[in-house]
Amino acid sequence: MIVLKDCFCVYDGKQRHFNKNVIIRDNIIEAMTDSSDTSFMNEEPLPELIDCSTHIVTPGFINTHHHFYQILTRNLPAVQNVELFDWLVYLYDIWKNINDEAVYYSSMAAIGELMKTGCTCSSDHHYLYPTDFNGDIMALQFEAADKLGIRFSPTRGSMSLSRKDGGLPPDSVVQSEDVILKDCERVLKDFHDPSPLSMRRVVLAPCSPFSVTKQLMKDSAELARSKGARIHTHLAETFDENEFCIKQYGVRPLELMAECGFTGPDVFYAHGIHFNDDELKMLRDEGCSISHCPSSNMRLGSGIARIREMLEMGINVSLAVDGSASNDSSDMLGEIRNALLLQRVSGGASAMTAEQAFDIAAAGGARALGFPQCGFIKSGMAADLAVFNLESLGYAGALSDPLAALIFCGYNHQTEYTIVNGRITVREGVLTGFDEELLTVEVNRIARELTRPS
Ligand SMILES: [Zn+2]
Repeated sequence: MIVLKDCFCVYDGKQRHFNKNVIIRDNIIEAMTDSSDTSFMNEEPLPELIDCSTHIVTPGFINTHHHFYQILTRNLPAVQNVELFDWLVYLYDIWKNINDEAVYYSSMAAIGELMKTGCTCSSDHHYLYPTDFNGDIMALQFEAADKLGIRFSPTRGSMSLSRKDGGLPPDSVVQSEDVILKDCERVLKDFHDPSPLSMRRVVLAPCSPFSVTKQLMKDSAELARSKGARIHTHLAETFDENEFCIKQYGVRPLELMAECGFTGPDVFYAHGIHFNDDELKMLRDEGCSISHCPSSNMRLGSGIARIREMLEMGINVSLAVDGSASNDSSDMLGEIRNALLLQRVSGGASAMTAEQAFDIAAAGGARALGFPQCGFIKSGMAADLAVFNLESLGYAGALSDPLAALIFCGYNHQTEYTIVNGRITVREGVLTGFDEELLTVEVNRIARELTRPS
């Protein structure tokens, strides 16, 4: 048993509570009690007590879109200032050289950053399967996730439409559709656990309309549904993508998805920036979720997603840091701040409240990925929690609203504790599953080797 004792503030996902204890038994939140309650001191063995008298406890954040391997090519000078298609074309040629240790250590680094900034559950969209690489990418990623302790719902990504067939990626990073679908079946069989408190949930995710065929979109959706898994892709990210779909298929991206059976409540799209009014209605009627990636959208100049309108219409919105070559940080708390600020650029000061920003980051993600016991602090929910210490200069003078302080103020976005499925994965600001200094050295070495001119 773990007790977060005498919490200054607990935000349960709906309301702020003051002077409470949060009691965790095994992997579940057992109760929230008044600070005066000490009945847990009768437990045998004694629970681990964590003094939270200057802290705020929030539901753990859920990141619904990422490309972990891109950690190795963050911030490359050659593509710091270009838009998506040029950025991709330059990077495909570097990414084609990834190997086992590149996948493993980049996953460790991304998961580590995420958890240190309050994230307790993440997806990843690995769509890069270079011709010369035969490793088991999903096995390596789950090994990293288990080691650090995050709840993990990776996607089996795919690219099948190379340049010679009218797509964007080169031959060196695409696979045949037979190979892709066989491997999708394998990973669903080997790794997918559909139970509500699952630590291993697989999603199928053809990369985007400009890197796979219509047939692969259809087949992936059908296969995922036959196994009770969800589906994901990039959609409506840029005007270039709109033009590509109209030229290639005669329809806009969302219409193309509808033709492929790639719509519905089990679908979440990354970005969703360039939807028109009719398309927003279609998203609502179909029950699709959006993975909003504000930092990446700003970094690549892709545009501002219509999140305020989506929320008003009842469309489920989740939050995501996106891949580390277009953010270039897996800073989950920072992403919540950017979501709030970016909506206000286009919609004014009331376009997004702190509560809405935290809601998309936790409950919105739980709905998108299908974890009904995540996203709120309540008896019977998963013990997935972020604990931030507000007793620091960055929050001084801001404690009239401890929740909003986290995103209106502060420059250190790190938790003091992160708890996932009842396990302390960040303790006193440090990862418990792996040596952070060693991880940093390894990631820098691998990145150097990968980006070295040949
Ligand atoms: Zn992406």
